[in-house]
Amino acid sequence: MINPPAVGIDLGTTYSAVAQLDSSGRPVTLVNAEGDLVTPSVVLFEPNNIVVGKEALKAIATDAKLVAQCAKRELGDRMFNKELGGRKYPPEAIEALILHKLKRDAARQIGEFSKCVITVPAYFDEVRRKATQDAGYMAGLEVMDIINEPTAAAIAHGFLKGFLNEQGESPAPRKLLVYDLGGGTFDVTVMEIRGHEFLALATDGDVQLGGYDWDQRLVNHVAQEFKRQHGLDPREDANTAGRLWRECEDAKRTLSARAKASVTCDYKGHAVRVEIPRELFEELTHDLLDRTRFTTRQTLMAAGLTWKDIDYVLLVGGSTRMPMVSKMLRDATGKEPDGSVAVDEAVAHGAALHAGVLLAKNAGQSPRLKIKNVNSHSLGVVATDNLTGRKRNAVLVPRNTSLPVTARRNFRTQKPGQRSILVQIVEGESANPDECTQIGRCAVRDLPANLPGQTPIEVRFHYAENGRLTVHVAVEGTTKELRHTITRDNMLTQEQLDAWRGFVCGSR
Ligand code: ADP
Ligand code: MG
Repeated sequence: MINPPAVGIDLGTTYSAVAQLDSSGRPVTLVNAEGDLVTPSVVLFEPNNIVVGKEALKAIATDAKLVAQCAKRELGDRMFNKELGGRKYPPEAIEALILHKLKRDAARQIGEFSKCVITVPAYFDEVRRKATQDAGYMAGLEVMDIINEPTAAAIAHGFLKGFLNEQGESPAPRKLLVYDLGGGTFDVTVMEIRGHEFLALATDGDVQLGGYDWDQRLVNHVAQEFKRQHGLDPREDANTAGRLWRECEDAKRTLSARAKASVTCDYKGHAVRVEIPRELFEELTHDLLDRTRFTTRQTLMAAGLTWKDIDYVLLVGGSTRMPMVSKMLRDATGKEPDGSVAVDEAVAHGAALHAGVLLAKNAGQSPRLKIKNVNSHSLGVVATDNLTGRKRNAVLVPRNTSLPVTARRNFRTQKPGQRSILVQIVEGESANPDECTQIGRCAVRDLPANLPGQTPIEVRFHYAENGRLTVHVAVEGTTKELRHTITRDNMLTQEQLDAWRGFVCGSR
């Protein structure tokens, strides 16, 4: 047994899972205190008690106002969209409460631990990655690394298929496409496995698309039927809406196994029972599926590949259990999608394998796995165009660049005697900085008063494998240098982090 244990955490938008490596180095999912392999990423804020998981999910039907769902979608925002029990929480604090339960439940089986690897969607930007690390800190975890979910899934797949065998043989390179449709996010990544190396070739996704959107189509369908019959909209009451959603999600799961399901809805003394054949469900949601098809094609093209170059199409995420997904992928790719690693455990398993590698590396052993990622968004700085005087996005690291990467670009000061330089870092594809995400800024101050106009400034970005960024600014002819002092608008201070850590770790 590795000491400390190698723990991987899949912190999902709707469900989370924890895995560790057993004594033979094989990943196993740890069940939670309720005995389940996955834990709903849902938090209930009772007056004197915080409940995470299945019980919190149930409370959506009775105490919807006290329940926080899909906080992962809001990482990067300053505060979660609603007050919970009269208090506002940053989304990362809600994520921390979920992580804290996962940690506590896992510790019951494997003993106290703090080191772990947490996964994030490949599509997550810098701000959301930092927020995820902060959530880990608040939960009392030591986050050794964050890795991309599709990479983790590919690692788990490679392990299962024996690409990562002890002998260290290097089988022929294989290309795979990871199609991950979860509850709240959609991610698609093209990867290459070369021996023990995992290279991401291209990645894309949609942070606002998942099984939840499929549920909502059913909710709307049933609500409209209710309105037609009784002239009332059951969605106007939060608890009724919550109950209806739970019913619809259940029906959706049934429709993955059966040709038809039904949903009942009662509100203000009226009730309807709506039958939903699978064909109707597929009709109500086909545009959502089309969006994933489109993104999948785009990503394949971004990798410069065609379907015949792809050896495996990997299914990841609970929503890939819907038959329409395999059907669509089979039609589009001409291949049978591979669901050999359980769709809701693959990511946690890959994270545990990666954690094992990191622990071995720390113990001085040579690593058996090598991971190479690409960045999912272009990174640049705001520059002023000399001719037009307009602001534009000067890209330093174009999207889908292999990481780690160091990139530099030269700029000039605008006027003689300029005393400070503000470097604004943006993430996004648009030439217009206003259409990009502002991820931070840093300033070089107290420049010498006699600095000539048009003095060269070198901006250097170091983008690490885990998607975290270090910025370095040097002004020619001065000793002024600056590194790593990015201030993010929505970032919590160390004191705030520590206060939340006390709160989260003190909760039961
Ligand atoms: P995430 O990683 O985004 O939290 P998961 O991969 O755990 O999500 O997937 C959760 C989603 O999968 C939910 O929307 C859930 O309704 C859906 N899901 C789970 N099982 C099934 C099933 N049998 N049929 C259809 N959808 C399912
Ligand atoms: Mg997931």
